[in-house]
Amino acid sequence: MIVREIQAKSILSKSKVHEYVVNPYVGCEHACTFCYARFMKRFTGHREPWGEFVDVKVNAPELLEKEIKRKRVGSVWVSGVCDPYQPLEERYRLTRECLKILVRNGWPVFVQTRSPLVLRDMDILQGAADSEVGMSIATADDGIRKLFEPDAPRTEDRIDALERLHRAGIRTYAMIAPMLPRAEGLPEVLKGKVDYIIVDRMNYTHADWVYRKHGLQSCMTDDFFYRTGNELASSCRRSGIECRMVC
Ligand code: SF4
Repeated sequence: MIVREIQAKSILSKSKVHEYVVNPYVGCEHACTFCYARFMKRFTGHREPWGEFVDVKVNAPELLEKEIKRKRVGSVWVSGVCDPYQPLEERYRLTRECLKILVRNGWPVFVQTRSPLVLRDMDILQGAADSEVGMSIATADDGIRKLFEPDAPRTEDRIDALERLHRAGIRTYAMIAPMLPRAEGLPEVLKGKVDYIIVDRMNYTHADWVYRKHGLQSCMTDDFFYRTGNELASSCRRSGIECRMVC
């Protein structure tokens, strides 16, 4: 893993998902096989494989403190093209510092991660007037998770994290994206742990080789997505969880 400390030029960018996005890192140690954020390599001149480099924007909190004074208050996505709670965050605490600044200044915060490290920052999130934590979980089967996201935290740990956040009064959701095999079991295990579920098919191109290697090609067809999407919607209804389909 090549880790570089860099000085970013800006940190609070416009986003199509929320009004703004903050990415304290370039690159992601989780190295998910399907990750769409690998396009960042093109913009940052990285030649290393995705997951083998991380640029740490060590001046992110300092920049954010200045930029929020110049911009109109809006909802902030943390993060869009990296996991804000990848393992390096334990050492650098950049996401934590950025959250503190946003919450202290009354900016709505929408965290999106695959890591239970977010639990460390529950104290900040609980004090926020407007915040949500989304945990990306693509399958209920940790064996399948290991094929596609071998370096990301275990499914069970993510579900436990959602439960703890939810119990602490923080609004939570699960992002089922991409929709991997055995995703249909998720609503049942997420009952009482999330406020809603988002289902997104997303782009699978990068993970084609994983499907082929493990004989899972039938799980890349429109038929699979249609059937699993319907099963997820029914399971959400049975579990009393709001389901938002974006695929
Ligand atoms: S955690 Fe998110 S940003 Fe990181 S590699 Fe996986 S999909 Fe990409």
